[in-house]
Amino acid sequence: MNGSIFLWMTKDIPCLAYSFSRLRHLYMNDLVHSLEDIGLPPFLQELGSVAIALLDENGSVLAANQGFLRLAPPRDASDQSWDVRSLFVNPRLEDIKALVPYHGGALLLYRGILNIAIGDQPCRSLQGHIYRWQEGRLLVAAEHDVEGLEVLGATVMQLNEELTETQRQLLRANRELKRNEATIRELMQTDPLTGVGNRRRLDEALADEVERSQRYQHALCLLMTDLDHFKDVNDYHGHTVGDEVLKQFALLLSEHCRQSDLVARFGGEEFVILLPDTLLEDAVACAERIRQQLESQPLVGQVGRVTASFGVAMLDRDEESGDLMRRVDQALYRSKKEGRNRVTQSVVAGQNAVPDVGCC
Ligand code: GH3
Ligand code: MG
Ligand code: MG
Repeated sequence: MNGSIFLWMTKDIPCLAYSFSRLRHLYMNDLVHSLEDIGLPPFLQELGSVAIALLDENGSVLAANQGFLRLAPPRDASDQSWDVRSLFVNPRLEDIKALVPYHGGALLLYRGILNIAIGDQPCRSLQGHIYRWQEGRLLVAAEHDVEGLEVLGATVMQLNEELTETQRQLLRANRELKRNEATIRELMQTDPLTGVGNRRRLDEALADEVERSQRYQHALCLLMTDLDHFKDVNDYHGHTVGDEVLKQFALLLSEHCRQSDLVARFGGEEFVILLPDTLLEDAVACAERIRQQLESQPLVGQVGRVTASFGVAMLDRDEESGDLMRRVDQALYRSKKEGRNRVTQSVVAGQNAVPDVGCC
């Protein structure tokens, strides 16, 4: 008999193994004429989930079990031998046949996906095995575990949903992390008592502003202030009241600043204000306004009048931040030395000093 056998499994792998070895044995003995002839047990002939068909070399069905009839029924009920070549989309039946130079013994030629077109339905993919056989014949076995595929499909969908949910959670966690990072960064640069910037914040901002000022030739001023005789406040009123004075002082400084200025607690009762795009005369005026405000109104009622001393400096061309800090510190020291409650400006060659203001 010259033909091809298609053993088509839709599920039940043990059956496939059984049928395949049985077919192989019988085929080698050239006994194949019908499904009964090849010795398929009755349950395989009746089984709807296992598709088995015997095809001749032209791709016409010679015999088929229930599973195959369900999968690819004849167009006409009286049709005893119908052509199923068109089922094989990839690989095509012709291509399968072309794979048959025989040298004895069964040899696995192809193992992979067989794309099958059944009527108008979308193409289906089945796992297939193609064996080279005697006398130009081919043995093709294909399995399609429908239930398995459905379960797989459902599992993939579920995994997909889980993945989407995980991605959403990850996104949320990422946003939260960024917020936390920003908060931590903010806390790391904030003075816990007064809420203004701390020295770390000042150092960073000063470095940035010095660079910006020199690149774009913008004016940059620094103001340093220290409460006068603050030790006495602590001594007379206690540390808690002293803390309240510090808080109120920080608030006052902030109120006299623009959005673009930076107020920072430099340490103890000493504060610095960074004033970008500000000329020396404007920085001195700012210091003077704060000084007068302090002088005229107690920061904390029970403490009474508290004064502060100020040093002001404007960045010189090519000057480094350290030098600017040193100059402003010297100006503050001069204010202290000359009686406190005053503003002193540090002026370098080429800068115009503000009239009627102490200078160093
Ligand atoms: P001067 O006019 O020379 O600046 O005198 P002063 O008393 O202000 O300066 P001094 O350096 O002698 O004292 C500073 C005081 O500030 C001493 C310290 O206990 C106090 N101090 C520093 N940090 C804090 C703080 O966080 N809270 C309180 N309540 N006091 C502080
Ligand atoms: Mg002081
Ligand atoms: Mg001090």
